[in-house]
Amino acid sequence: MTALDVPTLARVEVAPPVISVGGLNKTYATQGGAPIHALKDIRFDIRQGEFVTVVGPSGCGKSTLLKILAGILRRSSGEVIIGGKPVDGPSRDIGVVFQAPVLLPWRNVLENVLLPADIQRLSRLGAEERARRYIDLAGLAGFEGKYPGELSGGMQQRVGICRALVHEPALLLMDEPFGALDAMTRETMNLELLRIWSESRKTIFLVTHSIPEAVFLADRVIVMTPRPGRISDIIDIDVPRPRELEMINLPRFGKYVSAIRRHFGAVGKLDE
Ligand code: ADP
Ligand code: MG
Repeated sequence: MTALDVPTLARVEVAPPVISVGGLNKTYATQGGAPIHALKDIRFDIRQGEFVTVVGPSGCGKSTLLKILAGILRRSSGEVIIGGKPVDGPSRDIGVVFQAPVLLPWRNVLENVLLPADIQRLSRLGAEERARRYIDLAGLAGFEGKYPGELSGGMQQRVGICRALVHEPALLLMDEPFGALDAMTRETMNLELLRIWSESRKTIFLVTHSIPEAVFLADRVIVMTPRPGRISDIIDIDVPRPRELEMINLPRFGKYVSAIRRHFGAVGKLDE
């Protein structure tokens, strides 16, 4: 190597993480009782375009973590940096999908999807074009004028996902988005989410209590312990993309699932 190569090497850029969490703790005060230590010394980084899932038993602090990242819950200590800035409130660069889609019953599908754009007073023209694109992508074309009461649970959830995408957030936070769906709808939704992700190049952080779902979707799985929630492992998932349902039969897939399940072996099983 000559001296001339050095500046070239020095210019090689490593993209900074989109999310950087360090030494994060959360303690809830309770009325009269002892405080609840929900999260303990959580640290991880997520890079641009990654699909990261978080798996852990009920009550281990998954929703607490997601709400802190979303800027709707205060941390007790530690550092949470998103897009280079410490999180100190909700951000329009983040889309959040909650477990229940909470659609407004008096707004039709298109109007529900447009809600964040209306709240942020974005131009209706551009927003409507994006809304229709995501509605198409989510397999809801033709249902734009239907009301939530006329949709199945799976369709409502897909509307919730389109709504989280409509203002083009770079980061999508999803809290057990498919938890209430039957197994078959859930599989379809997993595939659709992967398709939306690969076409829109978002960074996705998705919480689930299903180990196979966590493995199927992710580039990396963050495994949490029961309360107080700590990270017991972060596992790289080396399964090719695009993912297909048959891949759950790969020996490698089974190994990942067993490795994660072993973390919970001593303290009981998760639902799936
Ligand atoms: P998960 O999403 O993994 O099921 P949560 O983040 O909802 O877990 O909750 C983690 C722990 O914090 C649980 O023990 C829960 O009871 C407690 N918790 C959650 N929210 C509150 C709150 N607002 N006040 C007090 N305790 C809470
Ligand atoms: Mg939860």
